[in-house]
Amino acid sequence: MSSGTCLLSSATVDTSIGRIKLSACPQGLHLIELTITKECELETGCDDGRVLVLEFPRQENLESQDHIHKGIKWLTKYFSGNMECTHEVPTLCFSNLPDFTTRVYKQLLQTRPGDTLTYSELSQRTIGSSKAARAVGNAMKRNPFILVVPCHRVVPSLTRHNKSCNPFGKYACGSSLKERLINFERNAFTS
Ligand SMILES: [Zn+2]
Repeated sequence: MSSGTCLLSSATVDTSIGRIKLSACPQGLHLIELTITKECELETGCDDGRVLVLEFPRQENLESQDHIHKGIKWLTKYFSGNMECTHEVPTLCFSNLPDFTTRVYKQLLQTRPGDTLTYSELSQRTIGSSKAARAVGNAMKRNPFILVVPCHRVVPSLTRHNKSCNPFGKYACGSSLKERLINFERNAFTS
């Protein structure tokens, strides 16, 4: 993904689902991407939600570092099933994203762990009509903020067509991980 005019700093962490790279500019986090996927029984909370920092930017922009630091703190809360992660979302930089995509992501940030919604419902909540369901699907596919913008909570509607297929639908990091994340959230977050 292009960072446009933003100057990025990056960190790498190991989490319950694999290695995650976080990049930020002074305005906020730009990119949270899974670079190596790890198979584990996420439902039972492997590694106790521990997030191990492998690389952290040095001698770079302090504001970028702060955004990355908050992103890592957020991941730690998320993987330990701490509901605080829904209220304390790290600042995201939307400057290189289309307007519609930004609106969809902001809407999706209102959902809670364990919830799921369909592409049509997310379209409805964003623009007041379900007609942009396909565009919502594309925005999910290109989500640069894995986990923080919870695209894994968006699932296909249960039509006759896909009832027999995977009910969780597609996920950029693999539909088995999507299923594990949904189950993890349903089990780990209780409030
Ligand atoms: Zn930026």
